[in-house]
Amino acid sequence: MTGLNVSTAKQVEGTGATAQSAVFELSQVSKEFRVGARLWPWGGATLRAVDDVTLRIDPGECFGIVGESGCGKSTLAKLLLLLEPISSGRLAFHGQDVRSFSRRDVRRFRRKVQAVLQDPYSSLNPRMSISSIISEPMEALGVGNRKEREERVCTLMEQVGLNPDFRRRFPHQFSGGQQQRVAIARALSVEPEVLVLDEPTSALDVSVRTQIIRLLLDIKSKYSLTMVFISHDLAVVEQISDRVGVMYAGEVVETGQAKDVIRTASHPYTQVLTAAVPSPDPDERPPTRLLLDGEIPSPLNLPPGCRFHPRCSRALPQCAADRPQLTLIEASREAACHLFVPSAPPSPGANGKVAKVS
Ligand code: SF4
Repeated sequence: MTGLNVSTAKQVEGTGATAQSAVFELSQVSKEFRVGARLWPWGGATLRAVDDVTLRIDPGECFGIVGESGCGKSTLAKLLLLLEPISSGRLAFHGQDVRSFSRRDVRRFRRKVQAVLQDPYSSLNPRMSISSIISEPMEALGVGNRKEREERVCTLMEQVGLNPDFRRRFPHQFSGGQQQRVAIARALSVEPEVLVLDEPTSALDVSVRTQIIRLLLDIKSKYSLTMVFISHDLAVVEQISDRVGVMYAGEVVETGQAKDVIRTASHPYTQVLTAAVPSPDPDERPPTRLLLDGEIPSPLNLPPGCRFHPRCSRALPQCAADRPQLTLIEASREAACHLFVPSAPPSPGANGKVAKVS
């Protein structure tokens, strides 16, 4: 297995980021889709799924991306996997702009960056045996001969906790958790550097979810993998991620160390999101509970200024007009909110629409 030496990385002052080449570096990356162009004579509308996202993902870390459904997490995953081209901005992989990739570079990239998707059953071909499914990426990328691939399938099955004797079976003969293990084995088959996991545990039972998280933590440390872990489940993200980025309406509104962001959220949206995480201990419940009114805005009709302002209880007068930028608010912590601009008044005028205390 290949692994990057993260110990040589130097810390960049104040950001928690490393001076070593980032695995992924996104600068003002946006993704737009034209919708309804064939149906509407005026040419349809522009759907902005990912908007102006700037972040870096460093070697060996697990970067969690969280947010409500429809916030752009999965589109961001597709951009990272080169399944969709970016509309604007710059997306670099190990310092190289992906738009300059030759066919050979794309082929190398496909080997280095693998995906694990949400629904294991629909991501596995029901007509293929488990052995064929796991060896498929190796065949597609010309890795090893038939015998070597077969041996590797057995090794991988053992590594993900499956009995290699079952390699001739088909996906429907496995439980949901076992199917996700197959999907992980398939992703590992070509010795990737990076796993992009899009809601890998959300279709699983709670007990199976814990097993899969343990497996992912195990393979991450064993192979020095870099992971991008996308989920709406903050408890799971806190368990597995080193750093997180919180997305709202296509934008990243807060980044930082996972535990800091989830336990002491800074951005008003993150505060509402994290307050909604249930605690197993009722005594540990926060004294106040924040509830969010309204829906996440349509990417076809995004509000001006701060995207969160129609739902934000702490909105300032300028929030409806001025779009806040993601800025460093403390070491290793960024937020896009006017409350953190030094000139902002300490006591914001609530618009009364959002946060309720229960
Ligand atoms: Fe709320 Fe304004 Fe901050 Fe947006 S910028 S989260 S509306 S306070």
